[in-house]
Amino acid sequence: MNELIGNDIEKAAELLVAGQLVAIPTETVYGLAAHALNEEAVANIFKAKNRPPTNPLIIHLANKEQISDYVTTIPGNAHKLIERFCPGPLTVVLPAKDIVPSIVTADRATVAIRIPAHPVAHRLLTLSGIPLAAPSANPSSYISPTKAEHVLHTLGNKVSYILDGGECAAGIESTIIGFEDDIPVIYRQGIITADDIKAVTGVVRVYSGTATLAPGMSAAHYSPKTPLLLTDNIETQLQQYKAKSVGIITYDNYVADIATDRQILLCTDTDLGSAARNLYAAMHTMDNSGYDIIIAKKFPDAGIGRALNDRLQRAAAK
Ligand code: AMP
Ligand code: MG
Repeated sequence: MNELIGNDIEKAAELLVAGQLVAIPTETVYGLAAHALNEEAVANIFKAKNRPPTNPLIIHLANKEQISDYVTTIPGNAHKLIERFCPGPLTVVLPAKDIVPSIVTADRATVAIRIPAHPVAHRLLTLSGIPLAAPSANPSSYISPTKAEHVLHTLGNKVSYILDGGECAAGIESTIIGFEDDIPVIYRQGIITADDIKAVTGVVRVYSGTATLAPGMSAAHYSPKTPLLLTDNIETQLQQYKAKSVGIITYDNYVADIATDRQILLCTDTDLGSAARNLYAAMHTMDNSGYDIIIAKKFPDAGIGRALNDRLQRAAAK
C-alpha cells in the first residue's frame, strides 16, 4: 500500500490548511490543490507543474454563496449560469476582489472560480474551510490525470498527499466562461456545451481571438510524449505508417486489420460522455505502451465532440 495515496479527507484538509500541496479528485480531472490565499503555497503549484507564471489558476469553493467573497460583481447571465450549473464542471471568470492574490490570477483583473460537484472535493472544501487554487495535477502541457495513479506517476514526488476519489466522471477540464458586457464567452470547451449555455442565457460566443487568454488555449497542450495524429480517416493514414508501430484511439468501431489490443475504443454506441470520461486514461495508456505513433479518430464536430476534438488537436500540435 502506497502511503502517499489514500482517502483520508481530514488528513488532506490539515495538509492544505498548513500550506502543503495535495492532489484532489474532482468530477473533471484531478487537481493539484493549495490554499488559494497562501502565496507561498500557490507558488509551489507553479514549481511542481513547471507551469508558466502567466497561466492563471482556478479557485475552487465549497458552495456558490462564497463566490461573492472573491469577486466584485456577478453579471445577470453569470448569475443564471451559476444557478443552473454550479456545483458542476463550469468555471466562471469574473472581476476579482483584492483578497485574491495576484499569483493566482497571473496579474489579471479577473479570477476563475469553480464549485466542484465531486462529493470528496466538496467535503474537503467544507472541512478545510479554505478556498483551493487547483490546476490540473499534471506536469505543465502533459496529459491531465483522471485517476489517482496518473498523479502518482507524474507528480508523485512533488505532493504531500494524493486524495483518491476514484475515476473522474466527466474526464475533461471544465468549460470556462467569461463575460463581455454580460454576454457569455466560452474560453475553453467542456462537457457543458455552447448549446447548454445558450439554453440558459439565450446568447453565447465562442472565444476566437488570437491572444492566448489561457494556456488551456495554447496550441500545444494535453500532449503525450509519443507523437499523436488526429484524423477523420484512420484507414488512409495507416497506409503511411505501415513500417511503424501504431496505437489507435477511436470511438465508434475497431479498425479492421489491426489487433484490437493495439486499439482503445473509448465508448459504445458513440456515447461521447463516456468517451470524455475515458479519453485521458486512454492517452496515458497509449503513451506508456511504447508505440512510434498514436493515431486518434476525430469526433463529430458538435457538442461534447467539439470539446474532445479541441483536446486532441492540442495534443497533436507540436
Ligand atoms: P487548468 O486548471 O490546468 O485547466 O488551468 C486553469 C485554466 O483556467 C487556465 O489555463 C485558464 O484557461 C483558465 N483561467 C484561469 N483564470 C483565468 C482568467 N482570469 N481569465 C481567463 N482564463 C482563466
Ligand atoms: Mg491543465
